[in-house]
Amino acid sequence: MTKLMIRNVNIVTMNKDKEIIEDGFVIIERDSITYIGSSNETNEHNVSNDYNIIDGKGGILMPGMINTHTHASMIAFRSLADDVQDRLTKYIFPLENIMVDEKLVYSGARYAICEMLLGGVTTFCNSYYFEDEVAKAAKEMSIRAVLGETVVNFVAPDAKEPYEGLKYAERFIEKWKGDDLITPAIAPHAPYTNDSNKLIEAYSLARKHDVPIIMHVAEMDYEQKKYAEEYNMTPVQYLDSLGILDENFIGAHLINVSDEDLDILENKGVGISHNVGSNSKGAKGVAPVVKMFKRGMKLGLGTDGPMSGNTLDIITQMSLVGKIHKLYNMDRTIFPAIEIVEMATIGGARALNIDNVTGSIEVGKKADMVIIETESVNMCPIYDYYSALVYSANPSNVELVIVNGEVLVKDKKLIKNDLMEIKNELLQMKDKILEVSKRL
Ligand SMILES: [Zn+2]
Repeated sequence: MTKLMIRNVNIVTMNKDKEIIEDGFVIIERDSITYIGSSNETNEHNVSNDYNIIDGKGGILMPGMINTHTHASMIAFRSLADDVQDRLTKYIFPLENIMVDEKLVYSGARYAICEMLLGGVTTFCNSYYFEDEVAKAAKEMSIRAVLGETVVNFVAPDAKEPYEGLKYAERFIEKWKGDDLITPAIAPHAPYTNDSNKLIEAYSLARKHDVPIIMHVAEMDYEQKKYAEEYNMTPVQYLDSLGILDENFIGAHLINVSDEDLDILENKGVGISHNVGSNSKGAKGVAPVVKMFKRGMKLGLGTDGPMSGNTLDIITQMSLVGKIHKLYNMDRTIFPAIEIVEMATIGGARALNIDNVTGSIEVGKKADMVIIETESVNMCPIYDYYSALVYSANPSNVELVIVNGEVLVKDKKLIKNDLMEIKNELLQMKDKILEVSKRL
């Protein structure tokens, strides 16, 4: 069995002590990291020729980044109607009901996975319709994913009746449970698109199969108003009153949350996906992420769907997180780059409850890692690796990507999949999408 050695790299481990190993090497056997060392060590690894060797050329080896919230297939609609008022209900839902089918979900997911891999994302958390198609695409392309079938209280692309997503979700979960790359989940879209009894039903299903529940929470201003008027509660308090918040709950956005809400989320161990790019573009507000991070909550970064955030890489989000929260708080000392890299990697893994598997470069963990090259003009000089990753780097600096021990991107190119073929497949739908969008 051939082993893989990546050498001549500066390793940003994101382990508990946030160790950095300069001029280091990593050994991967099958799907796991088995050794991490420094090149000046004299040991069996440095003299053995039993390895396939990748020369990292002095680049930064970091854990694969984790996109904790997206709707990958919506990439088919990217750049449509960015500036429309009340876009979700007036534009997106009607467009989806006409256009979304299995083919669009599959082709869109494939293209989106290309973008994620090329941008250094090794795990993504997704919720959409026909989630089985996303799972197929992810499995074929060998990326790690937590995938939730959407449940809504209206007729949807894969539901002739409201809430049919519940049945789809159970079949989907049974099919994918136990897969080494895919974690199936259930994704009630939001509190306001599901009745309370159906939210409880979705929760029971998640508990029965021991899978995550993914939901948009406290994202919309009307959501806050609705629960204040109907229950005199915040959305978080409302969900807590239903008994559905726990450590398997992954909440996306959580913008409109009070300190009391944070107490609840922290006590229940809820995972949080912070989507700064989407939140700011949608003018939705600034989530209290500084407080969340200080409390040590399970906090990762997400892009949201490509119709909302328009990009799928986490490097762009890292830079935005730093800049927007510093500006909003008028305090340049908050969120040092090391904390932002933490949210992009091990923090995201904690939010998705897969931190025992991925999120850091440590012996025993799965080999999910990325090399950010440092030869490009924008990457020099480097005095601080975290700063370089957050503020100097962009997705085009991603040189190498390994997921579960398999090299998927090398020399900045996908090596297992044909980007042009996947792109052409996506573009076959463009004319129809354009025609439908003009009628909305
Ligand atoms: Zn979303």
